[in-house]
Amino acid sequence: MILVSSCLAGLDVRYNGTNCLNVKISELVKENKAITLCPELLGGFSTPREPAEIIGGNGEDVLDGKAKVVDKSGKDVTQLYIKGAYSTLEIAKELNATLVVLKENSPSCGSSTIYNGEFIGKKIGGMGVTTALLKRNGLKVMSEEQFADTLL
Ligand code: SF4
Repeated sequence: MILVSSCLAGLDVRYNGTNCLNVKISELVKENKAITLCPELLGGFSTPREPAEIIGGNGEDVLDGKAKVVDKSGKDVTQLYIKGAYSTLEIAKELNATLVVLKENSPSCGSSTIYNGEFIGKKIGGMGVTTALLKRNGLKVMSEEQFADTLL
């Protein structure tokens, strides 16, 4: 089974109540070849919510207690991000997921890039918290962009 970010399948779960529809991924869900999940909702957030970014590092650093996730008002939401990551891992294991396709740039779901923690739209290299945890546990994770490349 393939797991995919809910927002990529067209569900309005992003912080601002929108989605990031990716037609190929949405088709996989409609064909029952993929299941959607949103680590941030699993962590306890609702939609809409404040945007959040990782401050002081990347998702791996968050897991190691060396960086934190903070929302735009300055509230530390690290534990909700970690909870969402572990809930996602649990589901991935239960479903024997062979592939997890997660939305690039997100502090949860990013695979190669995330925002730099200053809320200025600047990206840096690094994984989100959920991606980092899944990869540490041996799961195959890629972004929607990397997934599109596999279809070429
Ligand atoms: Fe999409 Fe992941 Fe953000 Fe949920 S946490 S809205 S699935 S990018």
